[in-house]
Order: sequence, then structure tokens, then C-alpha cells
Amino acid sequence: MTRGRRTLVSIGLLVVASGCGGGQPTGGTDGPLRVVATTSIVGDLVRSIGGDAVELRTLMGAGVDPHLYKPSAGNVRAMASAEFLVYSGLHLEGKMTEVLTEMGTRGVETLAVAECVPADRLLGIEGYDTLHDPHVWFDVGLWEYAAACLRDGLIRVDPEHETGYRERGDALIADFAALDAWVRERIAEVPEERRVLVTAHDAFSYFGQAYGMEVRGLLGVSTAAEAGTADVQELAGFIADRGLPAVFVETSVPPRFIEALTEAVVARGGRVTIGGSLYSDALGSPGGPAETYVGTVRANVDTIVGALSGSAE
Ligand SMILES: [Zn+2]
Repeated sequence: MTRGRRTLVSIGLLVVASGCGGGQPTGGTDGPLRVVATTSIVGDLVRSIGGDAVELRTLMGAGVDPHLYKPSAGNVRAMASAEFLVYSGLHLEGKMTEVLTEMGTRGVETLAVAECVPADRLLGIEGYDTLHDPHVWFDVGLWEYAAACLRDGLIRVDPEHETGYRERGDALIADFAALDAWVRERIAEVPEERRVLVTAHDAFSYFGQAYGMEVRGLLGVSTAAEAGTADVQELAGFIADRGLPAVFVETSVPPRFIEALTEAVVARGGRVTIGGSLYSDALGSPGGPAETYVGTVRANVDTIVGALSGSAE
């Protein structure tokens, strides 16, 4: 569906979604394409490829956990009146599954960028036969699929601005390829026996697979479940046995989980520090070094390499 028809549908939906007091649709087929993105990581992808051809609204800000995020009534109105709704998918936005599906069935153009990764490159989740790990952006090579898919999606929805979408999309994919090579080089600086990444939740499996690190998360692939005492003790034992120097907190998960873990290691007579804070499912604050996807990857890798190779202080 192209933009002209889409605008008519979205105005109809807006009335249904917002009653009489809701927001007004802005722009038209002449103005920038109105895009709504769910997570900050997806929003950055849209901003990078959409450029000034899109008017972007990102629902989740810095540090927001997408597994637990529940959309507000205003969010639902924004999604219903969007010309293009872009989300991560693979159930990352666990509490939004229904509303995202509903938007699609009601005629809003939608795209789940993580679901553009070929099925044979997706990792499973232990205990869930049909689900896949949604954290594909940690393998920068896999996020290239998301970028290509979004570039093509923007061109499909808004063909008038094809040239810009194509140029920015192709440039971003080239940036990702260079970033991927940089991550590989940096991780190789960590002594092999220390290439173990212990974090609050299991977000880094794609990272580990792509760049040669063993990964352990205290919580599962989602943050929705609490860690039991047995989980903490088992992981503490692993850290003590392996003599790991550092574990990591995450910006979108409360630090208490990892604090409990370091205390358990100390109680066993081990020594471990919190090596820093990783951006897992959200970007850093606007204006900071991790305000973009590329910036978060660089910041994470610097934190990991610094803490594990002992050069950080
Ligand atoms: Zn996550």
C-alpha cells in the first residue's frame, strides 16, 4: 500500500482509536512520512535511514526495558495514526504483542525488523520450541539484515523518496560492516580464558556467537522472571571457578540482580567486580556517546574489553 491510500485509512483509524479528543494527523502525502518506532534501537535505525524524509516518534526512551513496556493510550493513538509502524519483533516487545498484531490487521503498515534476519541465523530459547531469541542487534552483521529490510520497507511505503532511503540505507550497512570488523578486533584483545560475559539477562547470545565469547545471563532471555537463589548460587560458583574478574550490569535492568551475584561470589571467597554498565535493550541518553546504535556497540565493547583484560580502572 502506498502513501495516498494509507493516509485515508489512518484518519479512519485515528477516529476509532482516539474518540473525539485525540491528536491530529500531521502532514499528508506531501509532508514527511509519519513513522512510529517502538524501541530506541529501532528508532535509531529509522532515523538513520529515514533522515529528513520521516517524522519519527519513538515510544521507548533511553534505559526503558522493552520486555516489560506497556503502551499508554497515547502510544496506541500514535501507532494507529502512523503511516508506518516499525518494531523489533520476535516477541521482544512482550507486552505489546497483541496491540502490534492488531495494528497490522487494522491496515497500518508494519514491519518487524528483527524478523528480517533469516530463520536459520536465529537462536532458539531453551525450553521454548517455537520462540527465538529476539536480541539480534548484538551481532552487527545480523543487524545489517534489519537495515536492508527497513530501507526496502521505507521505499515500498514512500516510493517518492526512494533515492534518499537507498543512499542512507546502503551507507548505514557499510558502517555496520566496518563496525562488525572493529568489534571482532577489539574482542580479540581479551585473553582467551577471560572471554566470558556475565550479565543480568540473557541478551548477549548473538554477541557471544558472533564474536567468540561465552555468555551467561542471570535472568532468562526475557527480564519478566525473577532469578531464584539457586540460579544466583550456580552462576556465582561458575564465576568463582573460572576466576572471572568482572560481571556487568545493564542500563535497562535494575542492578540488584548483579549485586546479589557479586555478593554470592564474595561469600564463596571469590573476587569479582562490576565491570561497568552495558546497554542491552535500549540506547543511552540523548547527547551522550551511546545515543546511537553504533555508539552503544562501541561503548559496550570498550566496557567489556576494559574490564576483562584488566586495563580499565
Ligand atoms: Zn532483552
